[in-house]
Amino acid sequence: MLITCKNVSFAYEGNTVIRNINFSVESGDYLCIAGENGCGKTTLLKGILGLIKPSQGFIMSTVTAGQIGYLPQQSPVQKDFPAGVYEVVLSGRFCMRGLRPFYSRADKEIAMENLERLGIADLRNRCYRELSGGQQQRVLIARALCAAQKVIALDEPAAGLDPLATAGVYNLLEKIARKTGITVIMVSHDIENAAKYANRILHLQQGQFFFGTAEEYIHSDIGKRFLI
Ligand code: ADP
Repeated sequence: MLITCKNVSFAYEGNTVIRNINFSVESGDYLCIAGENGCGKTTLLKGILGLIKPSQGFIMSTVTAGQIGYLPQQSPVQKDFPAGVYEVVLSGRFCMRGLRPFYSRADKEIAMENLERLGIADLRNRCYRELSGGQQQRVLIARALCAAQKVIALDEPAAGLDPLATAGVYNLLEKIARKTGITVIMVSHDIENAAKYANRILHLQQGQFFFGTAEEYIHSDIGKRFLI
């Protein structure tokens, strides 16, 4: 067991947005948290990251905050960031640097490793804002991976991408989970495509939820309604 949520609810100022959910993920799992806008996906992700506390229930985790790489939802301003690709990816090591004034050789090696893992090593000298949306997302995933020793958490990593680039991102995340054993936790409202790659699905819906394998989801009542 890596992360387990037991009878977990979240509320803002007394208004419950997630009620009594249960699920767990292991090393190497690829969990997709799905559901319509406003159902509480980002809230749950922040809870898993330890940024907010459940109003009820508890989250048990063998992962410390420093072992989780996090890719929040992107804003248009961030897409215009005036820095080089390598610098952006290397900055994922910032939290590991502690009091050291410079990045170490190990930090630089990890940054290069993740550029290669994401298939963007040839873009390392390019300016981030000149890249396509799909390339930018790969850079940001490589950056988050620099901090991810055990878990990478991503909020809508394919937002705004065309269908081909979206499939590319989901496929890449599937490979990362399978080959490195890093657990991928991804928020997406695009359940139809995400279910083809994730091996665990948590679907939040109007106070109810489904949790199970992608195979179980396909055959569930909720899965039949949402998958065409
Ligand atoms: P999703 O990610 O599924 O779109 P969110 O987790 O962002 O949903 O939000 C779930 C609900 O909680 C929404 O109704 C939203 O308005 C509300 N909410 C989110 N963040 C806050 C906050 N900081 N304070 C009060 N309400 C919030």
